[in-house]
Amino acid sequence: MIEAAMPAASGATEEVVLDAAGLTKHFPVRRGVRELFTRTRREVHAVDDVDLELRRGRVTAMVGESGSGKSTVARLLAQLHPRTSGVIRLHGRPVSVKGGRRFRAYCRRVQLVFQDPFSSLNPAHTVRYHLTRALHIHGRADAKPGDLLAQVQLTPPERYLEKFPHELSGGQRQRVAIARALAARPEVLLADEPVSMLDVSIRLGVLNLLRDLRNRLDLAILYITHDIASARYFADEMLVMYAGRVVEGGDSETVTQRAAHPYTRLLIDSAPDPDRVAAPTEEATGEPPSLIHPPAGCRFHPRCPHALAVCETEVPPRFELTETGHWTACWLYRPETG
Ligand code: SF4
Repeated sequence: MIEAAMPAASGATEEVVLDAAGLTKHFPVRRGVRELFTRTRREVHAVDDVDLELRRGRVTAMVGESGSGKSTVARLLAQLHPRTSGVIRLHGRPVSVKGGRRFRAYCRRVQLVFQDPFSSLNPAHTVRYHLTRALHIHGRADAKPGDLLAQVQLTPPERYLEKFPHELSGGQRQRVAIARALAARPEVLLADEPVSMLDVSIRLGVLNLLRDLRNRLDLAILYITHDIASARYFADEMLVMYAGRVVEGGDSETVTQRAAHPYTRLLIDSAPDPDRVAAPTEEATGEPPSLIHPPAGCRFHPRCPHALAVCETEVPPRFELTETGHWTACWLYRPETG
């Protein structure tokens, strides 16, 4: 059984802190011998036309298989990659040019936590060094690194400040990485698979910490994951990504309990569930497509047992399913299809 969602922060508002519209990223493929003699330029269509909104005091999960483009979305929002097209806005103001005061302010307010805490921390430096340096970079030289550790529940701080990353457990390392992100006093935390490299036994503790930070600091959190069960447990809203496109969205309870898109239903059927007695509802076959030559129309159509003729040629738009924001991009929900 997929666990029920945790309640949103009591102070949660509908205020949109960060939003993106038409976010698109195509990576050029390195030219091989064949391309040297032709003018063809191949690209990986990693992310296409993604819209999203992150709200104060809310967690939005972006769920999909590996290679679906969800981590690229996080990196685009963190400004680690230039985008091919689309707009990113912080409090409604577009962020465009790299460099300059406004860009630096954006990078402070929007912090990324990586999947692998071991590689994101320098093994040659202590916890104190990592946190002091981050405070210094963000103009908070008078703040105490120990206070950051207390925020991520590593107490007493003196026990951890002089340790090197290899002396910490995976969960403690990830807490230090989160503490370093908090040094910037961010409004948005982009958490890219923050628990997927941790032992199962400590994943829940890190998710509960992020929930606690959402509540106490009113953070807008984007939780990137391949695990739809943890997304339902942790997130208020959910976006489901397949092959570079978002195919369904809504509050996480509705998306997991009344999934509309055949791919979302496939993800739910694939999630481990010892209590499941019913047979899977979806019988999709095959593998996700190549993003160098993604299928025309709906990218799921080669695997979809419900595919219609239109699915092979036309990209499905977003169809609203409820007045509370549940939607899907699937031709089955076109009003005239019934
Ligand atoms: Fe299947 Fe068509 Fe819906 Fe895509 S749009 S999921 S191919 S029915």
